[in-house]
Amino acid sequence: MHVAAQIMESRTAKDRGVDFGNPKIHLHRLNEWKKGVVAKLTGGLGQLAKQRRIRYLQGTAAFSSHRTLEFKQAGGSIKNLSFEHAVIATGSQARTLPGGATIDFVMDSSEALEVKSVPQKLLVIGGGYIGLEIGTVYAALGSSVTLVEMTQGLLPGVDRDLVRVLQKRLEGLFEALLLGTTVKEMKARKNGITIVLEGPDGNRQTRIFERALAAVGRSPRTSGLGLENTGVEMDKRGFIRVDAEQRTSDPSIFAVGDVAGEPMLAHKATHEGRTAAEVIAGRKAAFEPAAIPAVVFTDPEIAWAGLTESEAKSRGIDFAVSRFPWGASGRAATLGRSDGLTKLVVDPRSERILGVGIAGVGAGELIAEGVLAIEMGTNATDIGLSIHPHPTLSETIMEAAEGLHGTATSYFQPRRKPKLR
Ligand code: NAD
Repeated sequence: MHVAAQIMESRTAKDRGVDFGNPKIHLHRLNEWKKGVVAKLTGGLGQLAKQRRIRYLQGTAAFSSHRTLEFKQAGGSIKNLSFEHAVIATGSQARTLPGGATIDFVMDSSEALEVKSVPQKLLVIGGGYIGLEIGTVYAALGSSVTLVEMTQGLLPGVDRDLVRVLQKRLEGLFEALLLGTTVKEMKARKNGITIVLEGPDGNRQTRIFERALAAVGRSPRTSGLGLENTGVEMDKRGFIRVDAEQRTSDPSIFAVGDVAGEPMLAHKATHEGRTAAEVIAGRKAAFEPAAIPAVVFTDPEIAWAGLTESEAKSRGIDFAVSRFPWGASGRAATLGRSDGLTKLVVDPRSERILGVGIAGVGAGELIAEGVLAIEMGTNATDIGLSIHPHPTLSETIMEAAEGLHGTATSYFQPRRKPKLR
């Protein structure tokens, strides 16, 4: 994503008087660099585990009872282990399209991240996090990207005003964005794949792509774990049921991360892991956040935390909203990225911040302030009174808060009376 952003930024630099020419992409070096970063991070984890005297065994485990495991070591030998408490953190796996798993040239996200070559024509199936992020990378590297999404909009569930900011840019970057469209047939051919698509009007069209990416969601990874030998229960969607202490229906077994429910986000998993560890250590702990931030690392990024406007509407929650368009931000103008939007969803009586949504460059970094505001029970006046540095994009949050009363400095709105009680 970072390299994709650099490529795109180097293209637009021309408008500001700096011409870098066409980038030469050395895939081998790009992959080596990426591998280096990954190795540093995973190696770092190994080091941290050692420093904390964690015994690390590599192999496959399956429960034989609620207190024992059968453990197959990498070399093939089998050990029986017993435990007082276990934490399941097996994550999730990419969902495959019906019949898609065995078709050549159809990648899942892990394969797509090994950029072996840049396909001339790439089909992305699924307009969620992965489809949009990886589609953006390949488009920046030079692929002509067509994206198909089954529902009527990208990123189902995310507020439409935020998605519109991204969609507008993707319409310029991608060859085509086909909404309300599904894949009906896929057939591998010599140098690619023939795909039959069905549009919202029921019309079918056959197209040829060099490669396709299946990004139609992920499912919890529970098979082969021997859960039938324990008291662990799963819900209808296959996620392991846990309570606020991360305890499963089997009191000695805990579960955290993707396998224990949505949202399937690494930072949610880390915090759940802390909760489980604290409970096992005998402390009073519970996983009950007011806001879990979500970030789609596209260009621009979309980030949100807490209550979204669409959720407030569907749950019948009374709310007020204040939007600050980045067209009024000086910092956004210097970046040539006035397309962004910052919005606050607030309680109309107390003006307490219930949700924050941002679409724009750097939204993933900016959202942390929103999380803090929600967790601390901050209201719009608190944010407006907190001096934000100028000229920065963080001011858009302060000005959105001021905008609730019509007092934003850089954006004129008719003045509204504060309703604060
Ligand atoms: P997703 O649920 O975000 O999106 C899947 C999309 O595919 C949906 O829009 C869905 O409507 C569409 N779809 C489903 N079946 C389809 C079909 N047959 N044809 C066309 N479209 C279809 O799933 P994902 O993008 O695969 O990502 C999985 C999960 O991984 C995410 O939900 C997220 O929790 C996590 N993730 C997070 C990040 C991040 O935090 N930046 C990045 C990558 C993945």
